[in-house]
Amino acid sequence: MGGALKSLLWDLVRGLESFFFPSRCRACGVELDGPARLLCGTCRDEMTAPLPGGWREACLLGGDGPRFARCPYDGPAGEAVRLLKFGGKMRMAPLLAEAIRPLAATLKEHYRLDALVSVPLHPRRLRERRFNQAEEIASLVATATGLEFRRRGLARTKYTRPQVELTGEERLVNVCGAFAAREDFSGRRVLLLDDVITTGATVRECAAVLRNAGADGAVALAVAGAGL
Ligand SMILES: [Zn+2]
Repeated sequence: MGGALKSLLWDLVRGLESFFFPSRCRACGVELDGPARLLCGTCRDEMTAPLPGGWREACLLGGDGPRFARCPYDGPAGEAVRLLKFGGKMRMAPLLAEAIRPLAATLKEHYRLDALVSVPLHPRRLRERRFNQAEEIASLVATATGLEFRRRGLARTKYTRPQVELTGEERLVNVCGAFAAREDFSGRRVLLLDDVITTGATVRECAAVLRNAGADGAVALAVAGAGL
C-alpha cells in the first residue's frame, strides 16, 4: 500500500474514532480536541495560576515543621498525579513541576533552602512502577530553581503498605523507621518533595531522618494535598 493511501486511511480511522469516542478531560469531563491532551486548558490553568491568597495559602496546618501543598488532591492536580503514578503518563511530570515551581522558588528564598530531596520509593515498588513520580517532578523543579538535587540522599528501607489503604494512626506506624539517609546533610536546608501529602506522616518521618543526618531544617512540599 502506498504511503499516501496509508496515511489517508490512518487519518480516516482517527477521525472516526474521535467522532464516536470523543476524548474528554480526565479531571472535569469537558470534550477535548485531541486524545493526547488528557487535561483541558481550564484544568491546566487551575494548577498553574498564581495562588490568589499568596504562597502562604498553600501552608498546611499541624505537624512539627513547615508543610505546603500547592493544589487540592480532589481537583485536576490529583488527577494529574494519578495519571502519572498509576497510568504511567510521563508527560504529566512537567505539568506538575510547573504547578509547584513558583512555590518552590518562594520557599527556597524564604527558608534559605539549598538542597532538594524527593520522597523515595522502596526498590521493590520502584521495580514494579519503573519510576518514582516524586523524583520525576523533583528533578525538573531542581533544574528550574537551582536547588541541588540530592537524588540518592534518602532511601526507603522498609517495604510499606500504600498509605492510602490505612487510617491516620496506622499511617504513622507504617512509615516509622521506613527511611534512612544515604548522604551527609550537615548544615543543609532541605526542600523535601512528594507528590501528595495526606496526614503528613511520610514527610514528617523523612524530615526527622534528614535532621538526624545533620540537616539544619526541612520544609515539605507536595503538588497535591488532601483535606485542603
Ligand atoms: Zn478539565
